[in-house]
Amino acid sequence: MSLVDSAIVRLLPAVPRPVVRRISGRYIAGESLADAVRVVRRLNVEGKMATIDVLGEEVADPAEAEKIANAYRETFEAIEREGLDSNVSVKLTGLGLNVRHDVCRENLEAVVRHAAERGNFVRIDMEDSSTTDETLALYRELREAGLDNVGVVLQARLKRTLADVQALADLKPNVRLCKGIYLEPAEIAYRDFDSIRGSFVQILEALLELGSYVGIATHDEWLVEQGERLVAERGLGREEYEFQMLLGVRPPLGNEIVRGGHRLRIYTPFGRDWYEYSLRRLQENPKIAGYIAADTVGRLIPGRNGSS
Ligand SMILES: Cc1cc2nc3c(=O)[nH]c(=O)nc-3n(C[C@H](O)[C@H](O)[C@H](O)COP(=O)(O)OP(=O)(O)OC[C@H]3O[C@@H](n4cnc5c(N)ncnc54)[C@H](O)[C@@H]3O)c2cc1C
Repeated sequence: MSLVDSAIVRLLPAVPRPVVRRISGRYIAGESLADAVRVVRRLNVEGKMATIDVLGEEVADPAEAEKIANAYRETFEAIEREGLDSNVSVKLTGLGLNVRHDVCRENLEAVVRHAAERGNFVRIDMEDSSTTDETLALYRELREAGLDNVGVVLQARLKRTLADVQALADLKPNVRLCKGIYLEPAEIAYRDFDSIRGSFVQILEALLELGSYVGIATHDEWLVEQGERLVAERGLGREEYEFQMLLGVRPPLGNEIVRGGHRLRIYTPFGRDWYEYSLRRLQENPKIAGYIAADTVGRLIPGRNGSS
């Protein structure tokens, strides 16, 4: 990312919300469950699976957390009714992690049980490092309670992650491996591009060694190639791992992955609480400065963006 772009990333919180909404539209299915259903149907037609995320995080009110848990119940019903190939992803701070451990645990368990009743699966997203211990502890609690239709996320950016893999080994965890979006202090996280890539490969090797099912979540071509190499070296069948990408990010690379014979799952968020998620996606978009400029020009010179 150029210097100008990284300055713009720091200024993103000052960008007016309507502008953020317009330029981040492609990362989000829409505000309603019907929008998510429409997008997932299209992805399925393209040979891609999905994981639906009900947007909402850092919830401080127990009633709000319960509302999000209920939205997942409706999501499972829609997935079943529409015959979609999709599971769901949840954020624990959306289910009440910041309210109380037991509130979050109850909501999470309800979502995982609803999924189990419908033969579906729940992925627990990983948030910033202040939540890692509790997230892994809740994952273990559910697995030890006999719930196997649940998986977790590990972040290559964190120096602790290889040790976490070993600590989870007895559960043979189902893991989504990603670089990690949250900027963390240098004492606990790798900061440079190559170290994060190196860590990703090491962790992927360790997980495959355990026999874990891994969702290899990246838009980094080099890491996709490493993933392809490692699963081929182990002779894994296409049902024994998957690639994962975010809605709206590098669809042509996703199409290549599918053409290569791999399974690909697209993270598909929907809901009214789109702001924080959108900011994170824009932070990672190498063309962010151009998009903001184009949006501004489009509004100053009516007609440029199709309006008149
Ligand atoms: C399915 C999925 C689930 C995820 N879940 C989590 C999670 O639970 N917790 C967590 O911390 N992180 C999560 N992430 C985010 C992840 O940690 C990274 O921040 C993100 O994927 C970018 O890393 P990358 O591997 O794609 O590599 P990068 O080097 O960041 O990106 C590779 C290339 O992809 C393109 N690109 C990447 N992002 C964008 C964008 N937003 N817009 C346009 N182009 C882009 C660029 O061309 C870039 O050069 C998830 C990612 C995926 C794919």
